[in-house]
Amino acid sequence: VAFPITCGITFTYGGLAINESAQVLDREDRPIPGLYATGEITGGFFYGNYPGGAGLTRGAVFGRIAGCHAAVHA
Ligand SMILES: Cc1cc2nc3c(=O)[nH]c(=O)nc-3n(C[C@H](O)[C@H](O)[C@H](O)COP(=O)(O)OP(=O)(O)OC[C@H]3O[C@@H](n4cnc5c(N)ncnc54)[C@H](O)[C@@H]3O)c2cc1C
Repeated sequence: VAFPITCGITFTYGGLAINESAQVLDREDRPIPGLYATGEITGGFFYGNYPGGAGLTRGAVFGRIAGCHAAVHA
């Protein structure tokens, strides 16, 4: 019996900076219009460690926030 094996990222602590609306921030902490991010590509949310289950929760919560914010501003 053989099983396919692949790599996976369990958690990251660095990445794109976002604000409370999930907008990606530039180097001067200004939102970049129309650019949103969430999940493992973003940083600045946890430091050093994280509570169990927080990876998927962060993605779901900020994904919804990003979608709502983008829809209002479309
Ligand atoms: C073994 C393991 C166990 C985990 N257990 C838990 C848990 O119990 N609870 C929990 O909350 N979190 C858990 N996590 C963390 C959780 O899985 C991640 O936080 C979450 O999946 C991150 O979602 P994401 O959308 O940011 O990234 P991902 O799920 O990695 O999605 C990124 C997607 O982008 C695609 N992609 C990459 N490059 C490109 C490209 N150039 N063009 C197009 N597509 C691209 C990839 O194929 C992938 O589908 C676990 C992670 C691992 C690895």
